[in-house]
Amino acid sequence: MNIHEHQAKDVLRQFGVPLSQGVAVFSLDEAKRAIDSLPGPLWVVKSQIHAGGRGKGKFIEKDAGEKGGVRLGFSKDEALTHVKAMLGKHLVTKQTGPGGKQVNRIYIEDGADIEKELYLSLLVDRTVGRVAFVVSTEGGMDIEQVAHDTPDKIITLAIDPSKGVTDADAAKLCDALNLKDQARTDMLGLAKTLYKAFVEKDMSMLEINPLIVMKNGRVRVLDAKVSF
Ligand code: ADP
Ligand code: MG
Repeated sequence: MNIHEHQAKDVLRQFGVPLSQGVAVFSLDEAKRAIDSLPGPLWVVKSQIHAGGRGKGKFIEKDAGEKGGVRLGFSKDEALTHVKAMLGKHLVTKQTGPGGKQVNRIYIEDGADIEKELYLSLLVDRTVGRVAFVVSTEGGMDIEQVAHDTPDKIITLAIDPSKGVTDADAAKLCDALNLKDQARTDMLGLAKTLYKAFVEKDMSMLEINPLIVMKNGRVRVLDAKVSF
């Protein structure tokens, strides 16, 4: 079973994972209230469909405009215009098939100041029967493409279930992601938190693409895909 990005983020938030503030909406009225409730100055308007690649997707309906399924609003008006353009329309991404998926809900999120986009996922590695982290410094893009073009940039780390994520494991992940200073400190804790959420919620997959380092040096989960 798959859940929407905003639902996945609600689950992760319970565990104390660092996330942007956001509100899920189903109508223009709700969107207006949501936009007013967020601080700005950047509002990110995100189509909620059960498929990835939304940012680089395209809408079938012409009046939805040329932009993809994740749009930046630099004012409240612009954010609301994006909601109007996308709500009810059909978004085609690499993962939807040609008919696309109808956007019936939108997640409006506070914009983050991105310094670097990374990739992190957790899955059950059947070959070793363990939960494994898969990480890459090449975040924000199609991970299958990265696996194809530069497989050495993807690092897998299986976790011993009797020990959980050790300090040494967390340090390995930080090294693989080339994290320093505050971002490293953040990730040392986050690795354990994500593993705990994965195991306790009995997830089969947790994909964070991108995991970001912000301009202020802090780490944040910017996109989340969870399967059970
Ligand atoms: P998808 O993977 O379906 O394309 P993402 O949630 O990963 O959707 O969003 C696509 C891109 O949009 C991200 O790689 C990031 O650059 C940008 N983005 C998403 N959310 C935010 C946010 N809250 N603040 C700033 N940029 C964002
Ligand atoms: Mg993504």
